[in-house]
Amino acid sequence: MAKKQFKAESKKLMDLMINSIYTNKEIFLRELISNASDAIDKLYYKSLTDDKIKVDKKKFKIELAVDEEKRTLTIKDNGIGMTKEELETNLGTIAKSGSSAFKEENAHKKDIDIIGQFGVGFYSAFMVADKIEVTSKAYGEKNAYIWKTSGIDGYEISDAKKDESGTEIVLTIKTSTDDYDFDELLHDHKIESIVKKYSDYITYPIVMNMKKRELKKGSETEYEEHIKETTLNDMVPLWKRNKSKIKESDYNTFYSDKFFDYEAPLKVIHNSTEGLVSYNSLLFIPSHPAYDFYTKNYEKGLQLYSSGVLIMEKCADLLPDYYNFVKGVVDSEDLSLNISREILQQDKTLKNIAKSIETKITKELSDMLKNERENYEKFFNTFGSNIKFGVYDNFGMNKDKLKDLLMFTSSKTKKLVTLAEYTENNKDADSIYYCCGETIDKIDNLPIIESYKEKDIEVLYCTDYMDEFVLQTLMNYNEKKFVNVSTSETDLSTDAEKEQLATHNENSKDMFKLMQEAIPEVSEIRFTNKLKKHPVCLSSKGNVTIEMEKVINAMPTDETLNAEKVLEINENHEIVKKLEKMYKSDKEELKKYTKILYAQARLIEGLPLDNSTEITSLICEILSK
Ligand code: ADP
Repeated sequence: MAKKQFKAESKKLMDLMINSIYTNKEIFLRELISNASDAIDKLYYKSLTDDKIKVDKKKFKIELAVDEEKRTLTIKDNGIGMTKEELETNLGTIAKSGSSAFKEENAHKKDIDIIGQFGVGFYSAFMVADKIEVTSKAYGEKNAYIWKTSGIDGYEISDAKKDESGTEIVLTIKTSTDDYDFDELLHDHKIESIVKKYSDYITYPIVMNMKKRELKKGSETEYEEHIKETTLNDMVPLWKRNKSKIKESDYNTFYSDKFFDYEAPLKVIHNSTEGLVSYNSLLFIPSHPAYDFYTKNYEKGLQLYSSGVLIMEKCADLLPDYYNFVKGVVDSEDLSLNISREILQQDKTLKNIAKSIETKITKELSDMLKNERENYEKFFNTFGSNIKFGVYDNFGMNKDKLKDLLMFTSSKTKKLVTLAEYTENNKDADSIYYCCGETIDKIDNLPIIESYKEKDIEVLYCTDYMDEFVLQTLMNYNEKKFVNVSTSETDLSTDAEKEQLATHNENSKDMFKLMQEAIPEVSEIRFTNKLKKHPVCLSSKGNVTIEMEKVINAMPTDETLNAEKVLEINENHEIVKKLEKMYKSDKEELKKYTKILYAQARLIEGLPLDNSTEITSLICEILSK
């Protein structure tokens, strides 16, 4: 029979496996057992939803066998099996599962890490075997097929004989080298320890015939060897086990195995809940966003089990959108097994579980904030925008639950602070001051910030485009209003100072009117006393701030937004005298100066100049005088 070629990306992955220098090659067994378990899950689930399919749950098992002479290791399951086409597509090409997409993208980058902690599915068998034979019979089909390969140059599929549905994989183990003792994999005790280490929580029995030494019947001294079918795994799923007996590494292995992440989770939330609804949950907060987290392909959801049987791979209704980064498993006896997806959405039990899970996640995050600050900050730097989104989404419906999880950079320490900490640190202040900009440094250098520094008032620096929307949704915190320091209404001066400024502005009305002719897009020009060194700044009136204008106009839509801009001129700056002099002697010159000052203010705010050529020639003209 003619050999078929592997697809290019499969070849790449195979090559990586065959030549892998990764020392922890034994994880191949975890991968194959996990596939076998999935295949049994699929058959069992089918039987629950289809009356025509009858299976005996007690008969499900995964059998392992070693043959030292033939150098083979066999992994056999009585799950759903594969048709000829499925053998071809599933084993000849890399399946299009989430894990595989990840593999393709990352295989070259960090091979060692990926193989070790994240696993690479069926192909990992090439780390230990130079020949692989897969015999499979799909449930309900008459024929069985065998898929064979001896490596990268291709594979063959032909007819085979097999009675029961399921899959049998025979690996011919490589000969030992100086670097790796492959022979070990042909010893039943080694296989037993690998199963215990990585696959203990698999819910079907993993059995192997093992040699056991037992006392001979009737004798007290003589032993004899028996071959005995032994169950190697504990079978209680991890989430149903006693927390105190679970090691951190158990959680990490489970997590990386199930959710295809090479990095250990930032936080594990393991609970057994009784009450309105009873369920076990094992949730994980990842250390980093999933590779497709920011794409529209990303699907939120938790694995849903009913009494230990997987009924849904990704149940989206269990998580609010803002906790979409959470991974995990939920298992409840209160859910009916053969419930359809449509009904499930309306299910009261599910709604109650979802509510309870949300509360648990929120509680865990606030505990983390309280007790593990560094970890929380790491979390916030990674998923903080989710919390912000949660605050303003749905017209702020959830803002009260989430507001204490928010953090912003403090002008004083340049470190993250919570709103509670801000109000605690600034008891005398009647508002919470914030300022928006692209980076912390840029905000810190804004003219408007100077006076806050001088008066020792803490300002929250907001660099996320969402921040302003978040604070506007919150409106206030502990009865303190959020105040954007860049709006023209903000004024820190005393009443006397205010009065003096008002008079000065009143007396300069005509001059401002003339100046405005040069910059008609500005809705107001006035003197200010809030600047120290800088001659000018730009502020906004009304609901649209300059930062919002920047955010909206940077979006790939036709929509444009203009903030109502106010040009504020530092009344204590040298330039004021010059302006006033020009107003009397040379009105045209005053207009040119106005244009330059406005351009300066725009530049400081990070706004583009539409008339840069005009401005540069004006500057040159003045420089040449
Ligand atoms: P993944 O498990 O991430 O999808 P694998 O490379 O491990 O990737 O497996 C590819 C596909 O082959 C699986 O998705 C499954 O459809 C099929 N498969 C693998 N092993 C078995 C098995 N023992 N029984 C039935 N199908 C299997």
